[in-house]
Amino acid sequence: MSLLEIEELQVEYKSKKGFTGKEEIIKAVNGISLDVRRGEVLSVAGESGCGKSTLAKTIMRLENIKSGNIIFNGNNIANLKSKKDIQDFYKKIQMIFQNPYSSLNPKMKIGQILSEPLEINTRLKKAEIKKIIEEKISQVGLDKSTLDLYPHEFSGGQRQRIAIARALVLEPELIIADEPVSALDVSIQAQIINLIKDLKENFNLTFLFISHDLSVIRHISDRIAIMYLGEIVELGLTEEIFQFPKHPYTVALLNAVPQINSSAPKCEYPPMKGELPSPNNLPQGCKFHTRCPYAMEKCKTNIPEERFFSDFHTCKCFLYP
Ligand code: SF4
Repeated sequence: MSLLEIEELQVEYKSKKGFTGKEEIIKAVNGISLDVRRGEVLSVAGESGCGKSTLAKTIMRLENIKSGNIIFNGNNIANLKSKKDIQDFYKKIQMIFQNPYSSLNPKMKIGQILSEPLEINTRLKKAEIKKIIEEKISQVGLDKSTLDLYPHEFSGGQRQRIAIARALVLEPELIIADEPVSALDVSIQAQIINLIKDLKENFNLTFLFISHDLSVIRHISDRIAIMYLGEIVELGLTEEIFQFPKHPYTVALLNAVPQINSSAPKCEYPPMKGELPSPNNLPQGCKFHTRCPYAMEKCKTNIPEERFFSDFHTCKCFLYP
């Protein structure tokens, strides 16, 4: 059953162009439809600048919707107007940010950082709040004594554990994790990914996980959506995407994952060309045609429809009629 349904979502920004100061439109999200099911980790993968973080911020009501709908628990988030409705919404969706060095207030002790959402959003007594934050800090593998210390007294990995505990205190239904390990050392990344995986399994949490790192994504996801220039070009179960990738962009991303064992087999596909085009000047037709090694004449003008390969696996590409 879907907890979050995104329907034909479009998000645009206005921005001033270089020295001319001329206004231009940045099309960050271009007609995305996607659902997140209860109890799953759905990952959104793609290069930096493809619109992943804009999608996350728009779900959190931090960006304006140009058109389309975001339905959370049956309610369209664009229709939330009263303070109470908006406050209830933020109790149910929490976010973990990329940088644990800037996401925790350096002037507050960890106990205050974790108590604050409960003090603002509930009428719980102090003793009840203390019990909850002690429980959450231990669920992320830290000692109760952590609560009396300040963020600067912790390493990056410990700070990200604290940020995860803060996301958990209100017991949200959906957690959006935006590149939660990309600012951490590789050795610490594995610990945080395992923690998120354990929390998901032990407490049946639902995650929308955003990352450019497919090796991280493979470890944690139930399904993966591949995003290119504000569109989902392929969607499938994790092993479908890794074992049977269909879209040339997905194949190119998989081929770019570093292999420790250099003798490991690699897909024999030609690499994609060039760099991600600017979202203020999107290509016509299939947006990947300027980089695709298989581009045909019709790819330059026509937009490919979604094609189903299984109940869960879809792809938009003319290679599959
Ligand atoms: Fe490449 Fe054409 Fe498929 Fe786009 S539709 S990914 S350009 S083959």
